Amino acid sequence: MSNDSPDALPDSTRSTLAGVISCLSDYDPDALPVQDAQAIIRQFVQPVNAIEKVVIRSALDRVLAADIVSPINVPAHDNSAMDGYALRGSDLKDSDLQLKILGTAYAGRAFDGKVNSGECVRIMTGAVMPEGCDTVIPQEFTRDESDTGVIVPAGSVRSGDNRRLKGEDLAAGTPALQKGKILRPADIGMLASLGIAEVPVQRRLRVAFFSTGDELRSIGEALDEGCVYDSNRYTLYGMLTRLGCDIVDMGVIKDDPASLEAAFRSACENADAIITSGGVSVGAADYTKQMMAQLGDVTFWKIGMRPGRPMAFGRISSNGKGAYLFGLPGNPVAVMVTFYFFARQALLHMMGASATENPPLMKVRSKAAIRKRPGRTEFQRGILSVAEDGVQEVRITGSQGSGVLRSMSEANCMVVLEHERADVKAGDMVDVIVFSGLI
Ligand code: AMP
Ligand code: MG
Repeated sequence: MSNDSPDALPDSTRSTLAGVISCLSDYDPDALPVQDAQAIIRQFVQPVNAIEKVVIRSALDRVLAADIVSPINVPAHDNSAMDGYALRGSDLKDSDLQLKILGTAYAGRAFDGKVNSGECVRIMTGAVMPEGCDTVIPQEFTRDESDTGVIVPAGSVRSGDNRRLKGEDLAAGTPALQKGKILRPADIGMLASLGIAEVPVQRRLRVAFFSTGDELRSIGEALDEGCVYDSNRYTLYGMLTRLGCDIVDMGVIKDDPASLEAAFRSACENADAIITSGGVSVGAADYTKQMMAQLGDVTFWKIGMRPGRPMAFGRISSNGKGAYLFGLPGNPVAVMVTFYFFARQALLHMMGASATENPPLMKVRSKAAIRKRPGRTEFQRGILSVAEDGVQEVRITGSQGSGVLRSMSEANCMVVLEHERADVKAGDMVDVIVFSGLI
């Protein structure tokens, strides 16, 4: 890949697939490495860029659309980190210190008055530090407490201890959250700590999807001879919902040109992206590929991976409205793998999210040998557990067939065996992507 920086291409080049692809050396659509397919997608897909304001709770899991600068200091005042006594650090000596207690400072109710040398104030966690004080001795370190006085034992506290400084979490005027961040519970908590009630977020992406294949039956229909229930629409529903997309479920589309054209056109006119499953394999005796090519700028790949070799990608349009298209393979596991490794990144990029790279890989020990052919990336379903010696270990789930959805359901991670890799021996280290957080 000669150029994999998405911003490096001029708009005129990145606006057509041929333009993007022309920047690749050794491009071969029939044996495309995973990384090259990801790079082409990344360069071609553009963010949607439409902003709405939502109340803070509704901002959870949404993409922040503008930088947030803190309007206030957090905390707003120096305050105590412990229950104890606030004192002047300069009073501390090598010997025990007897202090006179002037009163009490509560959280939300400050002590009104100045503390001079030889004096202290009882203080609760979160209470504003009284004037003159810079140190707190925790209650449990003190001695000979009475209503009027207390002893600070020598060496029990250092000047400045147990005091939280004004602006320590965030100083007024400093950036708190960056545009493009997907807002997690800690982020909305932080927004609340800044007193921010409404947040600018990117509007949700609309994603239309349908399944293709004459053998598919929807739930509730009789399962005729040679037919299967359509499961891909349900895994896609789950994956898109988890990603925070608005979905348009268009059902099962029969393999005839008129139905397919109508479905693709309607999807284009109503969504930002379209995901289909099935009908993109090499010898597929159907009209799906034909219709995709007819309606736009679409390329068909055989990706160097397993499962999930065939895939279509591009942009199609109808009546002046366009949408990015991901034509995923039909096999249920291949749908999930191609979604997570190709569509997910692109959809995050369209949503304006800044973190669109692959989820992080973790190196763990393989419990058993795994057969692997060099020259393609293999995604095997694994179960991660802790071995008797305390080390994380992965084993492959039963059948790895690309139609065996059960292997995905039983797994808690995906083992990623890289392009060049050959057979794995028991005890070798392998890369895994943990499902938790991803799925
Ligand atoms: P295709 O890519 O259309 O040749 O489909 C490959 C395999 O996946 C075939 O065995 C299909 O029956 C199966 N398949 C395709 N779409 C679905 C679906 N939506 N749900 C379950 N299996 C499917
Ligand atoms: Mg089919």
